[in-house]
Amino acid sequence: MTNITNDEVDVVIVGLGWAGSIMAIELAKEGLKVRALERGPERPPEDFAYPKPADQYAYAIRNKVFVTPRDAALTVRYNTGETALPTRKWGAFVPGNGVGGSGLHWTGVLIRPTQTDIKLKTYADQAYKRGALDPDMRIKDFPFTWEEIEPHMDKFDKICGLSGTTGNLGGQIQPGGDPFEGPRSNPYPLPALHDTLNSSLFAATARKMGYHPFPNPSANVTQAWTNPYGAQLAPCNYCGFCSKYPCLNYSKASPQTTILDVVKRMPNFDYKTGANVIRVDLHADKKTAKGVTYIDEQQREVFQPAKIVILSSFQFANVRLMLLSGIGEPYNPITERGVIGRNYAFLSVGDATLFFKDKHFNPFATAGATGEMFNDISPGNFDGPGLGFIGGAKIHSSQASGAPIGTALPPGTPAWGKGWKEGMVDWYGRAMKVSISTSCMAYRGHYLDLDPNYKDPWGQPLLRMTFDWRQNELKLQRHLRGIVLDIAKELKPDAMSENFLGLDSHWDITKYVSTHNVGGAIMGTSPRDSALNRYTQSWDVHNVFVPGGNAFPQNFQANPTALIGAITLFAAEAIKQQYLKNPGPLVQA
Ligand SMILES: Cc1cc2nc3c(=O)[nH]c(=O)nc-3n(C[C@H](O)[C@H](O)[C@H](O)COP(=O)(O)OP(=O)(O)OC[C@H]3O[C@@H](n4cnc5c(N)ncnc54)[C@H](O)[C@@H]3O)c2cc1C
Ligand code: SF4
Repeated sequence: MTNITNDEVDVVIVGLGWAGSIMAIELAKEGLKVRALERGPERPPEDFAYPKPADQYAYAIRNKVFVTPRDAALTVRYNTGETALPTRKWGAFVPGNGVGGSGLHWTGVLIRPTQTDIKLKTYADQAYKRGALDPDMRIKDFPFTWEEIEPHMDKFDKICGLSGTTGNLGGQIQPGGDPFEGPRSNPYPLPALHDTLNSSLFAATARKMGYHPFPNPSANVTQAWTNPYGAQLAPCNYCGFCSKYPCLNYSKASPQTTILDVVKRMPNFDYKTGANVIRVDLHADKKTAKGVTYIDEQQREVFQPAKIVILSSFQFANVRLMLLSGIGEPYNPITERGVIGRNYAFLSVGDATLFFKDKHFNPFATAGATGEMFNDISPGNFDGPGLGFIGGAKIHSSQASGAPIGTALPPGTPAWGKGWKEGMVDWYGRAMKVSISTSCMAYRGHYLDLDPNYKDPWGQPLLRMTFDWRQNELKLQRHLRGIVLDIAKELKPDAMSENFLGLDSHWDITKYVSTHNVGGAIMGTSPRDSALNRYTQSWDVHNVFVPGGNAFPQNFQANPTALIGAITLFAAEAIKQQYLKNPGPLVQA
């Protein structure tokens, strides 16, 4: 029962991560009264600044800045024949919590999808014989062109002070960059991070083998940078505690360092922390929203009236809030009717760890995005059709951290006690990885819905995930393993261990992969098979916009946040230029 009603605002934003912060500043600059509601706590940068220690146990093992499973568990199963069970401990992914969302403590690899990734279905129809791919595969094109989305990726690059080496400037291939990237309208704002021993060995070997390595595109900035909003970042000092840690130095682009310091000073913007939104409230005709309801820190139910609702609470929470609020028809995998929940996709990773008696990699002197990668094995750049699968990977050697807990040791080294200590003395800092991070297609049977058995502490059903690996993704992994092992052999390590999926592997939720979950409320060209139009606007409730990874129809091999930033900026522009003048559906279908 709602017992408090706030003053009405023009825009209410649910979740203050990257998507929410971009929307906040873009719409506040337009003069709208904007209020953000964030489930987690305030996280001011000074909380993490020198001389506070970067504590690996607290941040990276005990997940200090992540939501607890108690507050945001999901249930998980492989297929519809099983009863899903709730997550008790985060494993494969770790959703963020608090101001800045996961953008506060992400790694900062800010790589774009390729042009083929944006038009994957068109590519598949042209390159693969009819019937060559899994009949349950449900891949789609993104509903915009490269030319439409590139200026927004360019703007997000500048917001973040992207550091790297340009590969394709206006169609001209540039030396040292990624020759497979789509044309950029501008070069990278800042030069690449310094190379480390592992990345230079990897790059030299990959180049000798005919691949095209380039420095990881990085949102750990390499020089002082003032972004288009006037926010200032300082050069990264390679502190070695980046991924899963907030930056202690104002060097990692985050909502805090690039946007929130600016928007917080605007009188028409405010935000509340400890505000857990539990539903979007609809008018009786169910065609528009009248606001959202949240539980505040005193556990009171509060109604926040608003003319526009932005759901930017991360992929899972966005899908769940749509389901809980009755926005759009829930997806049914048997009939394939309904749209909310469909096309859930994740990704897989794999690696070889190479140990060298005579090398020291100084892993503690590193930034989150340090490393080199190549994109040669991405759709359209190699013979996927001949190999019988679609998709690709970035193949890279990165060195995100030298933090001691979990240091890889050669096979056979004890995992504890005296043997482990001796192993650490002999091998700490003497290993490098060659890794893959893959695409993942969408399938008819992979989806999200509300769990019929399990509820959260506020009595609402948990989100249920139905997902497992399919042969397409497993064949891709086996092919990539071959490439990684060929590179590893060339590097002649003294010992090696490997970690790849087999053709009979099931998805393992207990091992960390990355928090690159996508789909569930996808964008498309028709309300019959998508939840959102090209501007992330709900087809059903036109004053609700849902920017985030949920909008991706499948997962490509690049990290998602460059495109999440871009689709959010694209949506904000459409709200400012079109929706405010003429509220209603922005696309007729
Ligand atoms: C350790 C780690 C490393 C990563 N590294 C990279 C990388 O190198 N490159 C890359 O591209 N991506 C990376 N990612 C992913 C990246 O962080 C996400 O893609 C990005 O942050 C998503 O932005 P978002 O705004 O959609 O969601 P989030 O950043 O998750 O923000 C959502 C916010 O909504 C809030 N919220 C949720 N539910 C509610 C509710 N009901 N009511 C109110 N508020 C709510 C959450 O607390 C959160 O603050 C990484 C993620 C993690 C966790
Ligand atoms: S490595 Fe650089 S960007 Fe990352 S936390 Fe340290 S100083 Fe910040």
